[in-house]
Amino acid sequence: MMQTPNLLALVLLYTSLFHSLAFSRSQNQPNYSYNQKKNYEGSSDLVDLKYHMGPVLTSPINLYIIWYGKWDPHHQSTITDFISSISSPAPFPSVSDWWRTVTLYTDQTGSNVTRNVALSGQFSDRAYSQGKSLSRLSMQSIIKNAVTSSSSGGPALPLNYSNGLYLVLTSDDVQVQDFCRAVCGFHYFTFASVAGATMPYAWVGSSGAQCPGMCAYPFAWPGGGPPPPAGSGVVGPPNGDPGTDGMVSVIAHELAEVATNPLINAWYGGDDPIAPNEIGDLCLGVYGSGAGGGYTGAVGKDSKGNGYNFNGVKGRKYLVQWVWDPVRGRCFGPNASD
Ligand SMILES: [Zn+2]
Repeated sequence: MMQTPNLLALVLLYTSLFHSLAFSRSQNQPNYSYNQKKNYEGSSDLVDLKYHMGPVLTSPINLYIIWYGKWDPHHQSTITDFISSISSPAPFPSVSDWWRTVTLYTDQTGSNVTRNVALSGQFSDRAYSQGKSLSRLSMQSIIKNAVTSSSSGGPALPLNYSNGLYLVLTSDDVQVQDFCRAVCGFHYFTFASVAGATMPYAWVGSSGAQCPGMCAYPFAWPGGGPPPPAGSGVVGPPNGDPGTDGMVSVIAHELAEVATNPLINAWYGGDDPIAPNEIGDLCLGVYGSGAGGGYTGAVGKDSKGNGYNFNGVKGRKYLVQWVWDPVRGRCFGPNASD
């Protein structure tokens, strides 16, 4: 199913990361040059990110999380605190400082992406309403179920077609089409015929049990096996769980892209809207200055030695990838050294 916007980009970038690292290890000699080209840090020569005249999310966003499957409350609070951090003050460099780069993008009326992202509702689909093996299209049925159900553990979510954004998160035991092979997450929009309205949504899977080396990098080493070599860039998870801390950065990636390309006709690079390069794709694996080829770049260390780059609410720390800055013309985050 090719309707997803960033499938091919993620295929290329994630598989290139995986193969580059695997290749390096088997050769006993680092060869990270391919990824350094892919990351574009400090260079805009190869980037053709363009505006295609469609809307961006300029109204304050009401974000609704759908927890699909069984979830650990500790992992849930790591994620909900991250969402709350997008529009809340925290010590510099903060998650909200990071989102400021996303707000630099405008639509054809000159309106910027909103600074306000509010967690406006949550729904737990504990009964696996669409089963444990999902297609991409299943996400729309999960949203449909959440906005029409009123009997499975709480009130239904609103069908908010004016400024709603739905985030479907699937638990460790759920298989999703292309998950762990081609994608760690994606975003698209619902069809009125399926969900009742056209609304942007994103999906991210919990990768801790299925493919942490692929979707929770740099908290896990691709392929498992021997310990990573020195300089591999693998770091400890700042909130204690590689799968969940890995999800946070993928969620951040997808939210930045859905805000700037909600209907797949606004900000993306390349000629094919089916496989665009969006503002997160251009900076995959980049968390700090000097990043490239599996090295995260310069990031902070918490008191336990875990890696992080941004502060959040309640004293939280997160490691979140950078996004493309349209003013600077390069990947950027508030922890940049230049
Ligand atoms: Zn992407």
